[in-house]
Amino acid sequence: MSQRPRPPIQVYLPLTSLDECRVCNGKDNLRLCSGCAESVYCSRECQTNDWKEHKPTCKTHRIDIVSLYPVLASLQDHCRFHVDRKETLHPALKHKIVREDGNATLADGTIRHLITLGAPFAIGHIISNERLQEWHPTARSDSERLDLWHMLMRHSDPAPLVVATCIALLRSIYTTNTTGSAHPRTRLRYRSSPISDFGICAGSVELISMASFPLAIQLPNGNFVPRPSSKNHHWIYFTTVHKEELILDCNLFCMEYPHVVSMKGYDLPWKHPTTPGDEKAVPVHFVDRSRKRYLNTLPVYKPRRTISVLRDTTLQLAISQIIQPPLGPNVLVPQAILVFMDKVAGKGRRLTQEGRDLFQEWVLRIFRGLDEVTIQSNAWKRFPEDPNGLVLLTTYQDMIGVDSSPEAIEAFASLCAVNSLMIKSSDS
Ligand SMILES: [Zn+2]
Ligand SMILES: [Zn+2]
Repeated sequence: MSQRPRPPIQVYLPLTSLDECRVCNGKDNLRLCSGCAESVYCSRECQTNDWKEHKPTCKTHRIDIVSLYPVLASLQDHCRFHVDRKETLHPALKHKIVREDGNATLADGTIRHLITLGAPFAIGHIISNERLQEWHPTARSDSERLDLWHMLMRHSDPAPLVVATCIALLRSIYTTNTTGSAHPRTRLRYRSSPISDFGICAGSVELISMASFPLAIQLPNGNFVPRPSSKNHHWIYFTTVHKEELILDCNLFCMEYPHVVSMKGYDLPWKHPTTPGDEKAVPVHFVDRSRKRYLNTLPVYKPRRTISVLRDTTLQLAISQIIQPPLGPNVLVPQAILVFMDKVAGKGRRLTQEGRDLFQEWVLRIFRGLDEVTIQSNAWKRFPEDPNGLVLLTTYQDMIGVDSSPEAIEAFASLCAVNSLMIKSSDS
């Protein structure tokens, strides 16, 4: 049997909206073909008349974003931990921690838990208990050191991670098509609705935090390390054909927002950064219709710019050049993707050389994790339909004044519409 050559890589766009019947152009009683959710009909009659022509392209794998988002969150977390970052690491991972002085009142009147940094010390991303002790000798316990390290490692600019994730989705999901391929095409859905667009929102997020005294970290010269800005935030949006909007935000953990998703049921081969308490869980905030009724109390997202990735014609061309090279320092992603990255980052903000190198590596890492591990292997079929959201409290959060009474956890969990199980690390 001769193998059919693989068709050239190109993007096959999904439906934008349910406009008219594919056969008669009628506009009433429109229904999606249940086989593929890619064709629209006004009646059973029109669908039957079209079947002979439609049948060869009807087969579509539809991956529910509710089931897939923990993988995207996990890949972003993986990127933060398993690369050799230097410049983009939090300054506290490059200095010894010399003092924790309890709470300090800052110039603007806010009260913060104060951490003071001393001599340069590269704790970085390679740790052991001994090194953690050397880094942070005044901590009360090993788990407190580890929890702080976890939180600091998750300080990173959200923009490169959300762009890399969207590029990987575009390349691994929307370049599949039934024509000329032995495999069904794949598409994203939200429950029964096809996803019609996704991309990046830039704007602000107003957080409710459980922490009464967020961290203030002071450099040896007396200046404070800027906190991650909730005013200049980036997150991923998805829109369905029914114009329903979903939000995926994997970058709130460093702002003391303790919402995570359990990775139980996701057997992923990449090395997972453990979370405190040994629970396999990754930071993420996913807003869909089940959480919409809590919107008054949840983080409030105010997008200033909405930038589509799926519908960007330049990116559609550029992603065809992403092949599957071995990972390494010299791997390049197409220039158009780097230009897009700068556009998302916004006016005057350009990535440093290290930032660029990391971004390129992240695009490829997330792409491989999605494409090989998740889509092509059909692993997505085994993922939980409704992954479990959790509230994660670390000993560190305890220390900075997170209200961890059972009542407070329960209240917070119900705001987030998640399982109230609290994960808490403890010294063994
Ligand atoms: Zn019709
Ligand atoms: Zn169909």
